[in-house]
Amino acid sequence: MKPIRETIHHLMNRHDFKERYEAMKRDILNDPHVQSFLRGHDVTDAMLNRHLGKLYEFVQQSKHCERCSSLEQCPNLLKGYTPHLIWQGKNIDVQYERCARKVQEDERKKQQSLIRSLFIPRDMLQASFDKLETDDLGRIEAIELANTFASTYEVGKRIKGLYLYGSFGVGKTYLLAAMANELAQRHIASFLVYVPEFVRSLKSALQTDAFQDTIEYAKQVPVLMLDDLGAELMSSWWRDEVLGPILQYRMLEHLPTCFTSNFDLKRLTHHLAHSQRGEEEQVKAARIIERIVYLATPIEMKGKNRRIDM
Ligand code: ADP
Ligand code: MG
Repeated sequence: MKPIRETIHHLMNRHDFKERYEAMKRDILNDPHVQSFLRGHDVTDAMLNRHLGKLYEFVQQSKHCERCSSLEQCPNLLKGYTPHLIWQGKNIDVQYERCARKVQEDERKKQQSLIRSLFIPRDMLQASFDKLETDDLGRIEAIELANTFASTYEVGKRIKGLYLYGSFGVGKTYLLAAMANELAQRHIASFLVYVPEFVRSLKSALQTDAFQDTIEYAKQVPVLMLDDLGAELMSSWWRDEVLGPILQYRMLEHLPTCFTSNFDLKRLTHHLAHSQRGEEEQVKAARIIERIVYLATPIEMKGKNRRIDM
């Protein structure tokens, strides 16, 4: 391989170098953006020659932007950044700023980061009120209340969440996810937890920092959403040491909490009163129900099972 200096030397000495340089310069100076940038400035030929590299960079990079098909395929030096020519005293420089697509993508990512979830299917998290079908009369009230909640709640405002109950497949989880997305668009964080899997996982994570962090987050997040409460394996430990304290904290701090369940409150009381070990503790179950009622308005969702249709 030839040393690089030798290669450059060779190129510089090629007889057509000057011609090609002039042609390139013409192209650059014909660019309408470059022309409007230079207009009104006293630009000498020496200045132009000195800054031709910058102008070339600008023209190349902005050409990419004109032909942009997606952020993914952006070939610019800095992906998602579009060039602008600026004057630095008598010098020309290229400055890069986020393009419209990048700004939009960053905003989307920021919003997504406001939705934390545990054991909720990824595609479910795409739910939104725009995509939501409202054909079932039995669900309209729930959808309206959910929409009102998600589009009006402000952090610090005292407001009740929802306890959405109804049979399997009516769209309860979907509605929670739509709420989480609406809240995220309004820059409000939420935590969506699929309770049965959460309870299973807690057992193995019991003594870890991650466990403490999750519980702490569930207590303090602006909006907590507990999905499928009542479908978990009931233990007095889960009820009294985990669920109870989370709800208690949120009650005292006036932090809204939403729930979904296949059970109405009466059946949930029964579920919470009976542990897998066969113990029966009505008072402890009633205490949890009291907290749920304090935190959320019960609302039934009726309708067809949407999972069967698909
Ligand atoms: P549930 O939690 O009540 O058991 P899901 O929320 O899991 O029901 O909904 C069942 C299926 O129906 C899901 O695949 C979901 O994507 C779809 N679905 C639910 N509600 C709607 C809706 N309003 N519009 C469109 N699809 C929906
Ligand atoms: Mg569900």
